[in-house]
Amino acid sequence: MIKKKIVVFTGAGISAESGLQTFRGSDGLWEGHRVEDVATPEAWQRDPESVQRFYNMRRIACRRAQPNAGHLALVELEKYADVYIITQNIDDLHERAGSKNILHLHGEIMKAQSSRDSNLVYQLQKDELSMEDKCKMGSILRPHVVWFGEAVPNMLIASEIVKDADILLVVGTSLQVYPAANLLYETSKDCKIELIDPNAHQMRINSNVILHSGTASEILPKWVEIYAE
Ligand code: NAD
Repeated sequence: MIKKKIVVFTGAGISAESGLQTFRGSDGLWEGHRVEDVATPEAWQRDPESVQRFYNMRRIACRRAQPNAGHLALVELEKYADVYIITQNIDDLHERAGSKNILHLHGEIMKAQSSRDSNLVYQLQKDELSMEDKCKMGSILRPHVVWFGEAVPNMLIASEIVKDADILLVVGTSLQVYPAANLLYETSKDCKIELIDPNAHQMRINSNVILHSGTASEILPKWVEIYAE
């Protein structure tokens, strides 16, 4: 039997049950910080030490977190479908769960990049990045993440991946961050779109999207079980 192509588009919500806070808590802050203070090129220009400190803390939290039943269900899904994960997350929980095809739209916290040449990317062997850590050209290393206001280089690859998907499964994203959220409009007309989120029914979304209200670790294992039948 020919396997269907399922593209899973994930956001911070899939890692919430692993203990990593989502981006927009009820206070509109990310771990108590205004996004403008920690996740923009301007913040880096103004106060690079604070930005490094913020991502160092995210890295430590990420290292301590473990994949949850939602991440693991997506690995199980690979038995029954060609699965491609496009994630907005900077954590590495999809990798550690064992998923095969993963595209990070907004970078990876466990990597650093040269502040002069974003193509110089390094896997980090430690949690804390300091202003003394330099790339091979002598420039400061910054977190390998896409900040608000920066281009999203993997967006073109993501668009290619979704355009012939049979199913687009959207999990744990508020769909407030662009251009990532545009992926929902880049599917073919035959693609079935389903969305899993505790707020699914409050989200303003096209009426052809099938909504599942609940958390990733509740709904995804059941979804995969039903798909496999
Ligand atoms: P968001 O915070 O804007 O939205 C999170 C969504 O997850 C919400 O719709 C919420 O209802 C839902 N959610 C909460 N708990 C859930 C659960 N248990 N199961 C399923 N869904 C749940 O996140 P976003 O849309 O991904 O955008 C935030 C941006 O911030 C991303 O681009 C990302 O780079 C960054 N970020 C990443 C991480 C991470 O890597 N874990 C964490 C925070 C923020």
